[in-house]
Amino acid sequence: MLTLEKKKKPVVLIEEVEGLLCFMEECPKLVSGKNEKEVSLAREEICERHEISVNSLVFPNQIGGDKIVEVFEKDRGASILSSNKGPIEDTDGLFTRDYGVFLVAYAADCPIVVYYDPVKKVCGVAHAGYEGTGKRLPGKMVDFFIANGSKSSDIRVTICPSALACCYDVVNAVDKDYPEPCRWKRFKSEFGEGSVRMAFNPKTKKSGAFLDLLFCNKQSLLRRGILEENIDASHCICTICSGLPSHYREREKRTRTLLAVVGMQ
Ligand SMILES: [Zn+2]
Repeated sequence: MLTLEKKKKPVVLIEEVEGLLCFMEECPKLVSGKNEKEVSLAREEICERHEISVNSLVFPNQIGGDKIVEVFEKDRGASILSSNKGPIEDTDGLFTRDYGVFLVAYAADCPIVVYYDPVKKVCGVAHAGYEGTGKRLPGKMVDFFIANGSKSSDIRVTICPSALACCYDVVNAVDKDYPEPCRWKRFKSEFGEGSVRMAFNPKTKKSGAFLDLLFCNKQSLLRRGILEENIDASHCICTICSGLPSHYREREKRTRTLLAVVGMQ
């Protein structure tokens, strides 16, 4: 069980691999520059705990797309904070082969998927929320690894906490790319019946469509050749009912986010 919120303890996402640092921590959410100092301090504290430089982090500017970018040592320090050089623009997937480059994804309900190939010594991270999952970003990241010399059977994957089918009713989700009648129904045609649980929602008192992002993303990974035993979903508890940062639950009071960090050192 994750105890992140109370103890502010980092969760180690991929263990027992020498030379790999991979963790998840809670961090205040940046609210249009108003709390930059607070965010900046929190990031520094997190990095201090893990004995890495805050300037070695690489943040993307996530937009719910399926773009993947390879980043290098020169990209270290990329972030939206005004003291940094600006994030990797419009990107939801990062990949690196450079040591000392720590890739970041941030989310509060969206699954973050972390990748490591111990043979090729390359790593990656993907932010696959409602949109990215539908666009099969987790599987596309596997293709990106393969295009860079990895074998799918070597890649280890960890899926971080996210909104899960117990709570995540998407029956009214706004979907600019998929108007009615497709919307959430496309997950069923893309990933199979197990992707959406139809049930009465006691909160809305209406029938709901509960999306299982974990199921969808697992399908996406397995189809691209990731071995079932190399997918670790043990951290994937539901953000909505567990007390973890959840924008779905917190609505307008969105003050926290989860950071997932991966890099080789
Ligand atoms: Zn739940």
